[in-house]
Amino acid sequence: MHLQLDTKVKRMHAKGQEILAERGYDSKNSKLGFHVPPFNTIDHLHLHVLGGEFKNAFRRKKYESGRMWYMDMSQLLEKITKMKKVQETARL
Ligand SMILES: [Zn+2]
Repeated sequence: MHLQLDTKVKRMHAKGQEILAERGYDSKNSKLGFHVPPFNTIDHLHLHVLGGEFKNAFRRKKYESGRMWYMDMSQLLEKITKMKKVQETARL
């Protein structure tokens, strides 16, 4: 079965939240997010599931959503919606 990209993203995010909850992290001390190409070190869609606080400032910035290199699920879904609109416009 071929899933739409937005459905895949939502399922990945739900699974990430499930794993964090299993390990005792709540939403206040956890982060889920996606690196934005070309700032990704793995060349496919992947979700970072992070529990706890960072002690290292560089790592904190690396996984801070709203940056040009990292976004949370709602930002990614917004980008996917915009891409779909561009593709639909190109087909007209
Ligand atoms: Zn990454």
